[in-house]
Amino acid sequence: MERQTGSHVLSATLARGSCSPNEIAPIYPLEMEARTFFDWAGIVPDFLLLHNIEREDTRIQYDWASRSRDAVCPRCEPISQAPAHEYVDQLWQDLPQAGRTVWHDVRRQKDVCRHPECPQHDFVERLPGFADEKARKTLRFQRHCVARA
Ligand SMILES: [Zn+2]
Repeated sequence: MERQTGSHVLSATLARGSCSPNEIAPIYPLEMEARTFFDWAGIVPDFLLLHNIEREDTRIQYDWASRSRDAVCPRCEPISQAPAHEYVDQLWQDLPQAGRTVWHDVRRQKDVCRHPECPQHDFVERLPGFADEKARKTLRFQRHCVARA
């Protein structure tokens, strides 16, 4: 099977239903929001927006981007509202689905800590309860692997 992406599949399906590209454009983010609600609510932090899904024979990848406006500095805790306009992409592996490996490609914002006494100049926002900074697997996938070991 060739690689399929959510955006192409949805566009092709809507086009078969006689939707024009102008009609399809506003539907796409709603479809991604619905997918997030049904498949990922309570698993993926709610400040992540699903942008695309890529499916191949043996893997499926979800592409997320943060829409957070209030990242918390990991050192001094207060909320930073100063996005650095830089982004960091990171890939985490999650529990498999229907025989496919599952990956999350998450684009997070780099923020600047403005606290005068904080030694942390900038930091990448965290994904509490979902994935650790230095890990390659999501927390629930780590727990699953430990339980099966
Ligand atoms: Zn700080």
